[in-house]
Amino acid sequence: MSKENEYFCIRQIDPQGRLVLPKEIRDRLGIVEGKTPLKLSLSGDSIIIRIPTPSCFICGETENTIKLKEKHVCENCLEKLNGIKKLSE
Ligand SMILES: [Zn+2]
Repeated sequence: MSKENEYFCIRQIDPQGRLVLPKEIRDRLGIVEGKTPLKLSLSGDSIIIRIPTPSCFICGETENTIKLKEKHVCENCLEKLNGIKKLSE
């Protein structure tokens, strides 16, 4: 089976324009209702829904980020933050 067709279903959009993501998809991708942001984009006649790559809330870096409470921070910014903490001690 090709990767694009790992899961297939047809859904209707409700009168308010909402689309329900099947539970199987939410569970498999770890999407948590009311918590996981989803990024929608258009590519030709396809709608692509992605879980955005976590990025550092300070500099926007997407590599080597660590989750701090609800935000992500990169190792460089984390080091700088630790430096600031040490200076103020
Ligand atoms: Zn950063």
